[in-house]
Amino acid sequence: MSARDQAVLKTVAAAPAPAADEARAILKRLGVPDSAFATSGRPATSPISGAVITHVRETSPDEAKAAIGRAHEAFKAWRKVPAPKRGEFVRLIGEELRAAKDDLGRLVTLEAGKVTSEGLGEVQEMIDICDFAVGLSRQLYGLTIATERADHRMMETWHPLGVCGVISAFNFPVAVWSWNAALAFVCGDSVVWKPSEKTLLTALGVQAIVERAAKRFGGVPEGLSEVLLGGREVGEVLVEDERVPILSATGSTAMGRQVGPKLASRFARAILELGGNNAAIVSPSADLDLALRGIAFAAMGTAGQRCTTLRRLFVHESVYDKLVPSLVKVYGSVRIGDPRTEGTLVGPLIDKSAFEGMERALDESRAAGGKVHGGGRYTEGACADGYYAKPALVEMPKQTGPVLRETFAPILYVMRYSDFDEVVEAHNAVGAGLSSSIFTTDLREAETFIASAGSDCGIANVNIGPSGAEIGGAFGGEKETGGGREAGSDAWKAYMRRATNTINYGKTLPLAQGVTFDVEA
Ligand code: NAD
Repeated sequence: MSARDQAVLKTVAAAPAPAADEARAILKRLGVPDSAFATSGRPATSPISGAVITHVRETSPDEAKAAIGRAHEAFKAWRKVPAPKRGEFVRLIGEELRAAKDDLGRLVTLEAGKVTSEGLGEVQEMIDICDFAVGLSRQLYGLTIATERADHRMMETWHPLGVCGVISAFNFPVAVWSWNAALAFVCGDSVVWKPSEKTLLTALGVQAIVERAAKRFGGVPEGLSEVLLGGREVGEVLVEDERVPILSATGSTAMGRQVGPKLASRFARAILELGGNNAAIVSPSADLDLALRGIAFAAMGTAGQRCTTLRRLFVHESVYDKLVPSLVKVYGSVRIGDPRTEGTLVGPLIDKSAFEGMERALDESRAAGGKVHGGGRYTEGACADGYYAKPALVEMPKQTGPVLRETFAPILYVMRYSDFDEVVEAHNAVGAGLSSSIFTTDLREAETFIASAGSDCGIANVNIGPSGAEIGGAFGGEKETGGGREAGSDAWKAYMRRATNTINYGKTLPLAQGVTFDVEA
């Protein structure tokens, strides 16, 4: 075992250091410059203990406009760099991320409260999308299309689009940037990122990593990757700036309702990745052991703070009394605590308002006839200083009140069903349309669920919970989730403009559709 591995093991075994001290040491190791901090800046806190880690200098609206200007100029140069060369820059980002994975993953844990494996997993996702984008940089293909005119050729070409704005949420503080930025960079766009005001430190860490990759690449135009630090006001600058032709906004549906119309009013392209109210169906033929594990991770993982978190569970009446008591047991025994401690499965909520939102939803569900198992604040030991919630399972008589909306906390509403067609209808009867799943071994049910009249979500799984997507597929959802797609498959097309080119290599000028227009030459 290497000395470094031994040191890591020692850290795991010992009681965790104060979150603020640890985070400051990591920021230094990642190379974040001192100029990023200012005593008068916005406090960056850790949900682990509620402690202030440091204060971050915020970006003023004027500075934001200047950053967008730099990114606009950078785009003009970057679009001329051959795509495979742009891919080399992203490959270097991936290399730097590999080297910094432990530190950045830990910083995600310290600032967003994710358990260790999820913090590291988020950085792994960044590495994966970089790898994907490197391959993509040699595959930005257009079609050659049959033309009706003799001696003509028709084809599509794909070109860089411009400055790509990225607004991200607190719960995926680094991965969401990379889903967008890795694609945007290889597509020839520059990127201006407005991270969540609750996770400024991880954004600073990422920026330091990108700058290292840029230095190694040499010749990256200044302004190719900009970060705007602050709240909604600075996000609004990005949304309103005409020099930003594409904006990817991840966050609540309420945010999307503000941002979407503004982008539409100036005809900017919008990739909206908004809230979810995800459900799973457990059918009579389900493998209940597998379902139980899938449900537990999807509903309680990340303390219920994933856009794809499982929030509604429909269980067939024939298996309800078998599955639900086992789930209640799991809920009662799941390990809550400091996300850095080995064995912890549920870390803290991001802040007090998240906890209060959870309490309000539980009160509403009680008033609507729900039977609540769990819930309430967890205050054992060092957890007393943060907002740690006991995950709640709520048996609901029907889908009503708080069940119809997303509460960003670990609440799972469970309901009985008897008829498959009716449950699919109930499954789709909410505003959001992000992720969904069915646990069944019945081929007809499985195929029906993922077919045209089945789940209406952007993600529909079989025998897997709704959360934990891979980067290879396009990620996003329908309805109030916003309709955007990011990451894999052909999501890259949103970051480029498409041109249809028709070339006449003949000596005559035939017009399409047989139109004639003979002028005297
Ligand atoms: P939020 O909506 O409070 O904030 C998200 C981001 O939007 C922040 O950076 C915030 O500063 C910015 N913002 C808010 N209003 C704005 C405005 N008017 N103009 C410009 N920027 C604005 O969300 P949150 O609490 O950080 O994250 C949780 C929410 O995000 C949940 O609803 C969750 O489902 C959703 N989410 C969705 C996805 C997805 O891919 N669909 C992924 C992660 C999180």
